[in-house]
Amino acid sequence: QAPVHAEKTYTIGTDVTFPPFVYANSNNKYVGIDMELIRSIAKEEGFKIKIKPLGFNAAVQSVSSGQTDGVIAGMTITDERKQTFDFSNPYYESGIVMAVSPKSGIKGLQDLKGKKVAVKTGTQGATYANSIKKKYGFKVVTFDDSDNVYNDVKTGNSAACFDDSAVLNYGVKTGLGLKVVTKPTDIGQYGFAVKKGQNQELLKMFNKGLAKLKKNGKYNQIIKKYTGAAA
Ligand code: GLN
Repeated sequence: QAPVHAEKTYTIGTDVTFPPFVYANSNNKYVGIDMELIRSIAKEEGFKIKIKPLGFNAAVQSVSSGQTDGVIAGMTITDERKQTFDFSNPYYESGIVMAVSPKSGIKGLQDLKGKKVAVKTGTQGATYANSIKKKYGFKVVTFDDSDNVYNDVKTGNSAACFDDSAVLNYGVKTGLGLKVVTKPTDIGQYGFAVKKGQNQELLKMFNKGLAKLKKNGKYNQIIKKYTGAAA
């Protein structure tokens, strides 16, 4: 009889709500593209995972401080983040768009003067908003999760929000109650991340597993299930 070797368990941090990539379903189980990818890859490569929905910024911090082994949360691969993290091969693409309440009458960046704009802490949307706030004369308010960002826009406290096109376009389709008014900018790729120089075996298994899922059709199946579109 072959010896049974114990599978190693890795803790994986993620966002609390970032559909269609990660969100809790009605049974309070974390689902979405990222969750199915990491679970399928773990199964394929023979390791165990413990998902920790910490919130985006907390999940990122938790990996950089070594408290969690990896993060998958629709996280954009950037040169700045590469100083602190090692990223997997990309698994999705998204840009940043501006969304408003349909009844607000706000049509674009030029309407933001003297207004507030909501973003999520530590995201590319926040970086983008901060980079153009002087030019367009708006103030940036931050929240730790996307629900609070969107609610701030829906209640009219903020005139707009900046977030990933892949998430806001999905939100518009699924009844979020916001409208996207700009074309995607700062297009980037999503990657799974580990702390730089750490958990390299995990990163390798992720890449290997992802390649297998792309080859055997499972990747396409997951994307289709959550977006309705072929990858
Ligand atoms: N893709 C964006 C980033 O990496 C947002 C990620 C998120 O909000 N979960 O900053």
